[in-house]
Amino acid sequence: MPDDDLLQRLRRFRDHAFPMHEEQFRVLVDHGQHPATLFIGCSDSRLVPYMLTGTGPGELFLVRNVGAFVPPYDGSWGYHGTSAAIEFAVLNLQVRRIIVCGHSHCGGIRALYGGVPDAARNLAAWLELGREAALPVAEPGADVLRRTEQRAVVLQLERLMDYPMVREQVEAGTLSLHGWHYVIEDGEVHVFDVASGSFIAAAEASHAGTGPYEPYAESPA
Ligand SMILES: [Zn+2]
Repeated sequence: MPDDDLLQRLRRFRDHAFPMHEEQFRVLVDHGQHPATLFIGCSDSRLVPYMLTGTGPGELFLVRNVGAFVPPYDGSWGYHGTSAAIEFAVLNLQVRRIIVCGHSHCGGIRALYGGVPDAARNLAAWLELGREAALPVAEPGADVLRRTEQRAVVLQLERLMDYPMVREQVEAGTLSLHGWHYVIEDGEVHVFDVASGSFIAAAEASHAGTGPYEPYAESPA
């Protein structure tokens, strides 16, 4: 019988990792979670929010989906898991920041130019949430893909502002929005700067990105 690797990992966590954080988890159970940050990130396995932000248990309320997309607040009231998480994070948890984090080499963004398998009907519909970010190019090169990934982040920030509870708190100054583009191969997050309308490497940025956000007009190339 082959080794059950996953089972071994679970036991290793219980026996080795958990004891190191047991007290922390105890406090989080006794006093509940109070994360200050809602992190909306792409599902991509190479994006590791805890590593990027140096956070641990109780610090990030996480939502991940293909593309790090935000559904429109359009009164369609469907099974919108991402929308439900946004409402919960803002209204119940009263988070102070919302980060939308896209990344380099995003398969969801690439699929905007290449399509998805016919059977992936939900995926095809979901990807439409990034459609506006796509550029009128048939064969996108690395630069076009990068720009599309970044434009998609800004598009989601704009949609966030359509959520009444988000807009209210951003305008009241109690909630900030952060648009990030993570370049996997560089280990560098580029943050969206509202004033310049561009993404700036964290090494050079003066802030981690705050709103409010007006509709994004890209400067002509
Ligand atoms: Zn992705």
